[in-house]
Amino acid sequence: MDCIFCKIVNGDIPSYTIYEDDIVKVFLDIEPMSPGHTLIIPKKHYNNLEDIDMDTLNHINKIAKEIYTLLKEKLNIDGMSIVQNNGCVQDVLHYHMHIKPYYNENKGMSVEEVFNILKNE
Ligand code: 5GP
Ligand code: ZN
Repeated sequence: MDCIFCKIVNGDIPSYTIYEDDIVKVFLDIEPMSPGHTLIIPKKHYNNLEDIDMDTLNHINKIAKEIYTLLKEKLNIDGMSIVQNNGCVQDVLHYHMHIKPYYNENKGMSVEEVFNILKNE
């Protein structure tokens, strides 16, 4: 299947991956809305919210909670929105959850800089 996120899961396309397990891969959005803009995707291909099963969704939510804590601790984000697009507003047709950070003061950081901060234990 010609799916860009399946290729990221397989490692055919590189990504700034900040977490992964058997079920999900978590990586930085290539065109971030703000520093730390993160995508959580299931490793298995589901098109959208209609297709995905509850166990996988529950796991994604658990990971979203952990990523929120990580971004608060490492990037000092002031707010965060979860966005998950479907239908005419969905560009990549592999289910993904956006974690979109907000800052009281604008921060200019490249995706690579953010990655290095997040990966620094
Ligand atoms: P949506 O489908 O919810 O509209 O958004 C798709 C998101 O995937 C966009 O924010 C876009 O920047 C991101 N994206 C598209 N292609 C790639 C890619 O190859 N790598 C990464 N890291 N993000 C991507
Ligand atoms: Zn896919």
